[in-house]
Amino acid sequence: MLVARYQTRFVRPPNPSAQHLRCFAQPDGDLSEVLPYLNTRLKGYEFCPAPPSLTLKYRAKMITLTAHEIAINIVKDQTEAEEILEWLRQEINATWEGRGEIVPSFEVATPPRIFEIFKLLPHTNCRGCGQPTCLVFAVQVSQGAQGFNDCPHLDQENRRKLREYLRQFHLLD
Ligand code: SF4
Repeated sequence: MLVARYQTRFVRPPNPSAQHLRCFAQPDGDLSEVLPYLNTRLKGYEFCPAPPSLTLKYRAKMITLTAHEIAINIVKDQTEAEEILEWLRQEINATWEGRGEIVPSFEVATPPRIFEIFKLLPHTNCRGCGQPTCLVFAVQVSQGAQGFNDCPHLDQENRRKLREYLRQFHLLD
């Protein structure tokens, strides 16, 4: 097992109105070697070989892994951070144990196409998602900055299609 536990700390962003936290976790194992394998398995958003770092998008969050630290840009509380870190711990350990079967990747995944997201939105520009237009919201979703469930007006069928489309990029709510 590469990672058994973490030490975590939480930081509130400098903006006084911010409601979220940033989470920094130190794993008890060195992640350097597992990162290219994890990049293959989880389709990383950014990968840097030296020094090794991998950025993932998950549940509309940016998660950056380096040799000795995992940073999650937005969490609402400690419980949410612990859920994400536990998911990551399992992914890291499964990847490490199965690395003999995985071709390491030093590339980044193709991002989702904005139009594929936009075409499934209601096109009313109602601002209910916090964005001025559905197109801006589609950009946000494509970058992992918001989840598709932030649009309260998606019908069931398009919600299902968006989930299916974004699943391949690991951009799920
Ligand atoms: S809430 Fe939905 S319909 Fe309204 S602007 Fe945002 S994406 Fe468009």
